[in-house]
Amino acid sequence: MNVGTIDAGKTDVKRVMRDYFTDLGEAAKDPARKVAWCTSVGPAEILRAMGFAVYFPENHGALLGATRVSADTIPVANAQGYSPEICSYLTSDIGACLKGVTPLTKAYGLDSVPRPDVLVYCTNQCKDVMHWFAWYARKWNVPLIGIHPPNHLPQVLPEHVADVAAQYRRMIGQLETITGAPLDPEALRLAVARSREATDLWEAVLNTARARPAPLSFFDGAIAMGPIVVLRGTQIATDYYRALLAELQAKVIAGQAAVPGERLRVYWEGMPVWGRLRQLSDVFANNRAAVVASTYCNSWIFTDFDAEQPLESMARAYLSIFINRDDAFKEAYIERLAAEFGIDGVVYHAARTCPNNSNSSYNLPQRLAAKGIPGIVVDGDLCDLRCFSDEQSTTLIEAFLETL
Ligand code: SF4
Repeated sequence: MNVGTIDAGKTDVKRVMRDYFTDLGEAAKDPARKVAWCTSVGPAEILRAMGFAVYFPENHGALLGATRVSADTIPVANAQGYSPEICSYLTSDIGACLKGVTPLTKAYGLDSVPRPDVLVYCTNQCKDVMHWFAWYARKWNVPLIGIHPPNHLPQVLPEHVADVAAQYRRMIGQLETITGAPLDPEALRLAVARSREATDLWEAVLNTARARPAPLSFFDGAIAMGPIVVLRGTQIATDYYRALLAELQAKVIAGQAAVPGERLRVYWEGMPVWGRLRQLSDVFANNRAAVVASTYCNSWIFTDFDAEQPLESMARAYLSIFINRDDAFKEAYIERLAAEFGIDGVVYHAARTCPNNSNSSYNLPQRLAAKGIPGIVVDGDLCDLRCFSDEQSTTLIEAFLETL
């Protein structure tokens, strides 16, 4: 029986992503336009305000995983000395470049990933992105700019914000030598305002899953999140999420469920298993369990953006992300969401190649269980399916759901 849905906003998100990649492909071929690569929670608003077409290699990594092209490309990067133990977005992507393949060709007609004029990473999420972008900088002799914020913060303090805002200012100077034009402060304010609007709408979209039954699941969200990752700072993202929110609100009113007969409500902690989204969606749906909240989808909610203080508010927003916080913050965060979404249990995905976004190794599941929030740890990975067992994970999840 397949009662899982990965449908919310599906048609629109396909169109939005196709338009985005078509534009990127055109920008890469147009000598008058510049392309910047950016990490997924990097300072995209600055790049947009400076007129760059912005490309996100992690999104490409997810696509390589979802299409399972990763199976062929990870070993190519492994053979070049990029360990099977490090980020499988990195190894999938570098292996794809070495092999000269990309799922963007079949999906959107692009010959290749767009060649960058500059590479911008931020280590607010991990240091793998630094090694990843450095590979491209060496390969193509492209300028590489890194933002290195303080990490794993209990609190985000004014000195942390000042540090990152100063790094942004230095970066803007470097970018101005590439574009040949100064940053227009009005364009930056507009980009931050648009990002704020889009992220508020994205939060409202995710919050519709507080309804019983929930109109969307984590698996819908993992697809619908494309625009908040790659189109922050644009009107396109705002328009998409406004339409999606209206669609979901109508579903709430109609009592339309992502998982018909919803009986249990689950929180997904950690990365998606991109090559098994559909299968995992079915495992939960077949047991009438709706995965109604997740750390991952929530990671693109940035309530600190403020157009009146663009650089400082960006610094605060990108410092404050879940992955960049200490364990006490993470514990309180999941506890709060568990209460707000009426969670029966948590599935912790221990992603083999992303310890940065796996939170089951330092006693967190046990601490939350002691507070009445039971959990199970599922071993897997974001892209490397050699680390994931369909049988074991299904058995574990079904046994866990039985106990709830
Ligand atoms: S956070 Fe994890 S998945 Fe994302 S780039 Fe870093 S190591 Fe890879």
